[in-house]
Amino acid sequence: MEECVFCKIIDRKIPADIVYEDEYILAFRDINPKAPVHILIIPKKHIATLMNIKESDRQLIGNIYLAAQKIAAEEGIDKKGFRLVQNCNEDAGQEVFHIHFHLLGGRKMAWPPG
Ligand code: AMP
Ligand code: ZN
Repeated sequence: MEECVFCKIIDRKIPADIVYEDEYILAFRDINPKAPVHILIIPKKHIATLMNIKESDRQLIGNIYLAAQKIAAEEGIDKKGFRLVQNCNEDAGQEVFHIHFHLLGGRKMAWPPG
């Protein structure tokens, strides 16, 4: 099976601008940013979509939110605000099937999203 692009980034087989890493999580800048700050936060465990998250992943998913706090503060967008977005499957426009949370900030966000 062809290894997924985000697993390749985790394994350092392809480069990325990594901004945060711990035992379970990696975060790197989106290659096609949609905001001045656009970082993808991913679990190192390959999970294809939100629908594949299991009970045993509770702590892992919680850790993503704690990483998001640290990264937002580091990027200086914690006070002004930011958005943490996850796209699930086709209608949401999911393109990479390794779950990732888009941390977007540095500009005013529209609501509702398109
Ligand atoms: P989604 O549409 O939610 O699946 O988002 C996938 C995101 O991954 C898009 O914003 C892409 O720009 C981003 N992306 C794809 N390949 C890479 C890569 N090699 N490095 C950084 N970001 C990437
Ligand atoms: Zn993967």
